[in-house]
Amino acid sequence: MRISQLARTINESPTLALNEAARLLRERGEPVIHLGIGEPKNKAPMAAILSSAAKLKTGDIKYAPSDGLPSLKKAIIRYTEENYRRVVAPENVIVSTGDKQALYNLLFAITDPQDEIILLAPYWVSYPEMVRMVYGVPVIVTPEDGSFVPQFSEIERAVSSNTKAIIVNSPNNPSGAIYPPELIAQLVELCESRDIFLIMDDIYHKLVFDGACTVSAYDYTNRDVDSSNIVLVNGVSKLYGMTGFRIGWAVGPRRLIEVMTAIQAQTTSCPAVPSQAAAEGALTGVQSVVENLRLTIQNNRDVMMAELQGLEGVRVEKPLGTFYCLPDFRAYNTNSVELATFLLNKALVVTVPGAPFGMEGHLRLSYAGSIKEIMEGIERIKWALDPNAPNEIYIGDRKLVRDWL
Ligand code: PLP
Repeated sequence: MRISQLARTINESPTLALNEAARLLRERGEPVIHLGIGEPKNKAPMAAILSSAAKLKTGDIKYAPSDGLPSLKKAIIRYTEENYRRVVAPENVIVSTGDKQALYNLLFAITDPQDEIILLAPYWVSYPEMVRMVYGVPVIVTPEDGSFVPQFSEIERAVSSNTKAIIVNSPNNPSGAIYPPELIAQLVELCESRDIFLIMDDIYHKLVFDGACTVSAYDYTNRDVDSSNIVLVNGVSKLYGMTGFRIGWAVGPRRLIEVMTAIQAQTTSCPAVPSQAAAEGALTGVQSVVENLRLTIQNNRDVMMAELQGLEGVRVEKPLGTFYCLPDFRAYNTNSVELATFLLNKALVVTVPGAPFGMEGHLRLSYAGSIKEIMEGIERIKWALDPNAPNEIYIGDRKLVRDWL
């Protein structure tokens, strides 16, 4: 069997791999605590279920327009007007199978071999892989001051004549940091002056805490959507807890959306119609579901922060959004894969190593689960990392044995 050279280099998603590892352990009856989850626990909004069920009931589930059902696009246009203060036309919108596919279509549409795409560390694990999948070159900017938000000058220095795009994800997976408005404004100006796409991955934009808010990149340009360099990607996965429906979208210049539509038409034809109906239901239904989720997650974040206080030597920046934080565990182990494997094997706690996010020595911990999981997960990590703790503990009748790192 001869697999392509490029495909052989593409890493599997560490987060999805860990989900699978946790699932298998649970299937074997192991009391696993999953602090790696990348999705909220809530049920899909009723409006989404009813809308999808109504569509299914017609029995008329066929190919739909490649760029999405007109009624869903209308809901996305309204969402964009309400949240980004921009009027967009249907031609500026494409519906895809998740934010992920919208982003991949976009990268495919803009990247020539060896074009550079700037990624800001810490970054979502899929960005570098996706860039390489379209024969582009990921250029990583890591904040020199050890923070989670690069300085504008650091990003500017990374721009070359090969730069095609900069990807911004704020609130950020994995750090939970929010980029300051001044930085977004500077990036809009930089991208406009150097003719670079500014890709705003806004998938967590309403999951923000303590009164923090995210900005609309469009607020910093006088250009209209068609002449702008800004492309938004977003979806219903995180804000509505609808990861399994796989619906996301992109908003951008119509020429670009047209090309992305051609790519999508040749690969998946269109996103699944019952899922599109569900997304439409979510976007047009009562929006208190998003606020309720946000409040739950904010409370979970507070519990996670309080628990982490008790972990000696671990430094953590309080996240202002998402459902992740990225504590620094270098006091215990500078190799995050080794540490995450140790915690999974010995304490049965799933964490995600920081290395594939561009932050070695850190672990991404999720507080999307229940309070009980957060508290017990951190307690077990404390036990596993404390050299003075007993070598064995019991979880029910399951004995955990820890050999010190
Ligand atoms: N973008 C970021 C930054 C993410 O963290 C994720 C999921 O973890 C996605 C996109 C994927 O979104 P979707 O489920 O809509 O494909």
